[in-house]
Amino acid sequence: MAVRLFSTVAGLRCYLDLSWGKQPRSSDSPSNPMPIPALEIGFVPTMGALHTGHLSLIERARRENKLVVVSIFVNPLQFAPGEDFSRYPRQLERDRSLCEGAGVDVLFTPTPEEMGVTASDQTHIQPPQALVSGLCGRSRPGHFEGVATIVTKLLNLVQPDRSYFGQKDAQQVAIIRRLVQDLKLPVEIIACPIIREANGLALSSRNQYLSDEEKIQATALYQGLANAQNLFRTGERSSATLVQAVKLELANVPVIHPEYIELVDPMTLKPLETVTDEGLLALAARIGSTRLIDNCVLRGSYGVAPNANRQPMIAIDGPAGAGKSTVARKVAEVLGLFYLDTGAMYRALTWFILKSGVDLGDEPTVAELASQCQIDFVNTPSPSVFVNGEDVTQAIRTPEVTARVSAIAAQGAVRAVLVRQQQHYGQRGGIVIDGRDIGTHVFPDAEVKIFLTASIAERARRRQVDLKNLGQSDVTLGDLERAIAERDRQDSTRAISPLRKADDAIEIKSDNLTIEEVLGAIVTLYQAKTASLLV
Ligand code: AMP
Repeated sequence: MAVRLFSTVAGLRCYLDLSWGKQPRSSDSPSNPMPIPALEIGFVPTMGALHTGHLSLIERARRENKLVVVSIFVNPLQFAPGEDFSRYPRQLERDRSLCEGAGVDVLFTPTPEEMGVTASDQTHIQPPQALVSGLCGRSRPGHFEGVATIVTKLLNLVQPDRSYFGQKDAQQVAIIRRLVQDLKLPVEIIACPIIREANGLALSSRNQYLSDEEKIQATALYQGLANAQNLFRTGERSSATLVQAVKLELANVPVIHPEYIELVDPMTLKPLETVTDEGLLALAARIGSTRLIDNCVLRGSYGVAPNANRQPMIAIDGPAGAGKSTVARKVAEVLGLFYLDTGAMYRALTWFILKSGVDLGDEPTVAELASQCQIDFVNTPSPSVFVNGEDVTQAIRTPEVTARVSAIAAQGAVRAVLVRQQQHYGQRGGIVIDGRDIGTHVFPDAEVKIFLTASIAERARRRQVDLKNLGQSDVTLGDLERAIAERDRQDSTRAISPLRKADDAIEIKSDNLTIEEVLGAIVTLYQAKTASLLV
């Protein structure tokens, strides 16, 4: 379908309102008194002159949402006098056809008047000084206030479920995350990896200003970061030494004038003297009259230095019945990692909700309880699960909990709360976790991603064996195959967290493999990954 182009707020809002009206209402929980809208909107704000970096954001938005909105707005608020506002590349026709090719539904191209940014006196968003005053903020006063103001307006207009930003603009990502958190905007901010030329140069609309020779010279920016990253991998954690590695590389190219090279905390942007968990190594430099930025995130990896707390983690996704949780548990045991039992988390929450006696179909109340339910795992003296300090290890295995857990897990707000708790657990790495969207959504940065599958026939055969062991020998293979095929269809087409293999996941089809062989394959992959991080 052709991309719809709107340049006014009225057109955009009318289109979005009508799209909501056309959406089928979710039937995930039939007892729910309030209809749940199933439309999911992914939003990619840009300034146009689209390149493969922008397209990577759009592709991700396309994969994860029903409707994709891209905006193109060269925002005057974020350019200081004397900066390149008037000569910034504007290529609407080309951008439109790129959006069309990428399956964008709506392209929003407002004028500055339409966005209300031309009046001298207007409401501005002021992010915390600590975030806007350092790095690029030092030479671009007012820039991030301009970005924050326009992004807030756009998020209000589009009201997306998810909005996609490039890690290329790492300071911008930190500021927008904070803005969304502080203003309580109901949107998920997703940062996407930096897309580079084959020679390492980060793609940017401003690369158009560079001559061919400058483009080659500019690769020193990436090379400097790569040198620091290599040092980091060998165990170097001192900010001064890592920054010096970048400086040395840039010093080889006299036409490059560095503006800053700094190592900061990726969230707070506070300068770091050493990296413990994570550091953002960011730089800005001028080549001729062009200002370029680039960065890399340095993450502690297993066993490298005393303070390197982050161990690689393993995310295992795959269809139901492929043996994910059995395998995940064993992998964790063999590798001495922590098995984050997401099933137990849903059970624990279900127990908490049942205990409170509320109507399970009352989603807003369930959501409220979910966010007051702190789930903890303790491994010694024996593996136990706690809810708000109470040991519920036995209580979450009752038939009552078993009977209700899937209805609770189907609720969007419940998933959102538990995904946040899972991500919190995963911050330090060293976990094995299985599910449907772990590698694609919960931990897109997981170091080892596995997609564990088996044919429908094989899964039906295994299920039949399990059922026979439970004394049920009257279920036919045909029935089981049909049920599994239907479950696969539902899982891969769900509005919330559909099953999908992450692009960088390794697929293991277990039809002709024993559990030990699957286990061996994953352990080998993990050990190889750990070794590569230690290089
Ligand atoms: P811009 O049009 O420069 O405002 O960029 C729009 C979005 O695309 C921002 O979130 C940028 O961070 C992102 N972006 C720009 N260049 C890249 C790149 N090379 N890789 C990934 N994302 C990028």
